[in-house]
Amino acid sequence: MKTRRIFLQKASLSAMALAVPTLNPLSAMTKPADTLPKNAQTLRVAIMGLGSYGTRVAEAIQSCTRTKLAGVISGTPSKVVDWREKYGIPEKNCYNYENFDAIKDNPDIDAVYVITPNALHKDQVIRVAKAGKHAICEKPMAVNAADGQAMVDACKAAGVHLLIGYRMHFEPNTLEVIRMRKAGELGEIRFFQGLSGFVIGDPSQWRLDPELSGGGAMMDIGIYSINGARYMVGEEPIWVTAQEVKTDPEKFNEGVDETITFQLGFPSGAIASCLSTYNMNDLDRFYLNGSKGWAEMQPSTGYGPIKGTTHKGPLTEPIVTHQTVQMDEMAAIIFDDKKAEVPVNGEEGVKDMKIIDAIFKAIKTGGKVDLNLG
Ligand code: NDP
Repeated sequence: MKTRRIFLQKASLSAMALAVPTLNPLSAMTKPADTLPKNAQTLRVAIMGLGSYGTRVAEAIQSCTRTKLAGVISGTPSKVVDWREKYGIPEKNCYNYENFDAIKDNPDIDAVYVITPNALHKDQVIRVAKAGKHAICEKPMAVNAADGQAMVDACKAAGVHLLIGYRMHFEPNTLEVIRMRKAGELGEIRFFQGLSGFVIGDPSQWRLDPELSGGGAMMDIGIYSINGARYMVGEEPIWVTAQEVKTDPEKFNEGVDETITFQLGFPSGAIASCLSTYNMNDLDRFYLNGSKGWAEMQPSTGYGPIKGTTHKGPLTEPIVTHQTVQMDEMAAIIFDDKKAEVPVNGEEGVKDMKIIDAIFKAIKTGGKVDLNLG
């Protein structure tokens, strides 16, 4: 594993694929305070991992109606000092990776949002669960399905929620396409195309270290096409085939995928064709085709604005800050038992991990791999 000093010197470039200007934090999906349930409980969150995405989430929380940044867990004392000052976080709510199990005795924190390198998520989420706090975990939830399932099991055993940071599940234009598909406005779904990628920079960053990333582009950005195929088609895939191309084996070591194309088959006969890459820029497009209509979205999963058109015309749902809406919706899931239109629970994350496992297997065997997502 890389030393703390080394990783601190690295710029995180993966988020650059998604790096578009921060939006106005207006949130049409977030209920104004006067329409919230009476005595709506505020979700007090501690962020673990004060990196590029953790910073974005912290900023977005400032515009939340019922979520509050209450604490931090970090290996970098100087960041803790900055965040305490910026967000008014009391010292008693600040932890490091060695001592954060003590969060169990802190009544001022309800949940921990794990935003660290992928391979660390499993142990960190399990420790959060054992401390009796709800866990929110970034995608990919883990580096394989078995680890993801262990996280689900640990949270279940502890009686806490496990939610995955699938911000697109709350994005208004995305939800409008899903509404149209459910209402039959697209007819029978026949085809989905998902293109997810960007050119990754600094070769020494953790995203290119398989010990920390658990893979390459597929874990990081290809997962958007996997997850998108499922919520766009509205079915669980039953088989997968996949092919890998590597043009730069030096930058993309053994265990780090550069470019993968994969195909998914669904019970209805619908098919998906997707591309995941760390070697092509501006690749962020979904296309859904049905017997009565179609929808295309580009960008489809970036930070926004998400833009799209259907056979009926442009998508015109409100532009929101994804993470603001996500956090308030997660507060409602945790405290009000609200059901998300597209689930964000741990089981949902495990399904994506099973598909990633199967994609890697299909590449190895060159054949079709059956999927049973239950
Ligand atoms: P960064 O490298 O920018 O930040 C990761 C942070 O994790 C570090 O700053 C550090 O925070 C902490 N950390 C703990 N141990 C290590 C270690 N051994 N090496 C490096 N960092 C360590 O990454 P991102 O914020 O871009 O990504 C973090 C997670 O968020 C990933 O799982 C990624 O897939 C996900 N993500 C999700 C996005 C989304 O849109 N949903 C977008 C971008 C990322 P500290 O110094 O405080 O300890």
